[in-house]
Amino acid sequence: MDYKLKQEYTDKYEANFVNSKFGTKVIHCGQEPDIVYGCMAVPLCLASTYKQSEPNKPYGPFDYSRCGNPTKENLERQLSGIEGGKYSLALASGCAITTAVAQLAKVGEHIVCIDDVYGGTQRIFRKVLAPKSGIEFTFTKTCNVEEFKKSLQKNTRIVWVESPTNPTLKVTDMKALIAAVREYNKDIIIVCDNTFLSPYNYRPLEHGADIVVESATKYLGGHSDVVMGILSTNRKELYEEVDFISKTTGAAASPFDCYMLIRGIKTLHLRMERANFNGLEVAKYLEKHPKIEKVNYAGLESSPYYEIAKKNGYKGNSGMVSFYLKSNFEGASTFLTNCKVFSLAESLGAVESLIEHPETMTHASVPKEYREELGITPNFIRMSVGCEDIEDLIADLEQALALVK
Ligand SMILES: *Cc1c(COP(=O)(O)O)cnc(C)c1O
Repeated sequence: MDYKLKQEYTDKYEANFVNSKFGTKVIHCGQEPDIVYGCMAVPLCLASTYKQSEPNKPYGPFDYSRCGNPTKENLERQLSGIEGGKYSLALASGCAITTAVAQLAKVGEHIVCIDDVYGGTQRIFRKVLAPKSGIEFTFTKTCNVEEFKKSLQKNTRIVWVESPTNPTLKVTDMKALIAAVREYNKDIIIVCDNTFLSPYNYRPLEHGADIVVESATKYLGGHSDVVMGILSTNRKELYEEVDFISKTTGAAASPFDCYMLIRGIKTLHLRMERANFNGLEVAKYLEKHPKIEKVNYAGLESSPYYEIAKKNGYKGNSGMVSFYLKSNFEGASTFLTNCKVFSLAESLGAVESLIEHPETMTHASVPKEYREELGITPNFIRMSVGCEDIEDLIADLEQALALVK
């Protein structure tokens, strides 16, 4: 068994795709046909432990699967290829990634976080880390960069941004934000949660962010059958520290989930193209509907974020659309329970269209006063437009809206 041979073979295969376009990378990075049989699907390696040739001499880089596994390693190379990072890591969930990355800050250090960050991220920061870790947090608007700058402090270690935000889909001008942070202190770690756009639409590392994190449960997986979180970075020391935290605390993704994610990512470009198209069409339809008060979607020319998204080079705005009904909770509930193509469910980014009520579902754990400030009201609805045919999606919305009083 010669691991060196396998390494050379892998490096040679990877080298073929360094300059490839996105749709080629999703299908080839990290996915060399295996060296013994030429398997055209990455083998699923379930082993928890690995035979060694002599004491403390494993054949390859793996000795125990909490610390690494061949299928996970394939996935991490695929992720590096598509995110444009040198180092990637797959953990058991998006929240596991958030927890591990936030621990790059130490006791007495400070994290600035966008105020309408994902509900689960709020819970980690407000309920676990703030009271227990000695890390200080400030929640602030990042859409207004001048306002945002006031929250930077001498001890700020991390700036945590999400763009577009969940569920009100505000777009941060990342170009301006990154420039402002660098001007203040070039050592601050800029983390961008890119879950809503996916690397097909936007790659934060190419624009100067230090770490991109994503809930792979959403667009990367794309089929509502994997829970996982990923990160990618070009900064080796940051990767090594988060990898150490992950190995130590036992947050690694399981081999089966890695296998499923590799398979999901192979069609990311195709799914995103359709999601971008469907998202825009649905947003345009809703914008004109008499029972709708307001639609949030940066792809609409009427959106205050249209120019910002363009300036930051978004290829599309994904299938995430949110809106306010000219109604109350009862109206929202009638609408949500009568959709037939859209399923009433949490989560997003899958091929099937999902619809949900942030106030009582995904964002119920956000304190009420913050919810109101953020615009998460009883008549507010979020949808993840999937890959079905647009005519069927619009017909479904039409019939459900007709029932709203
Ligand atoms: C879902 C989500 C997360 C958390 O990911 P899990 O895989 O559910 O743990 C983090 N950020 C955003 C923007 C999300 O949508």
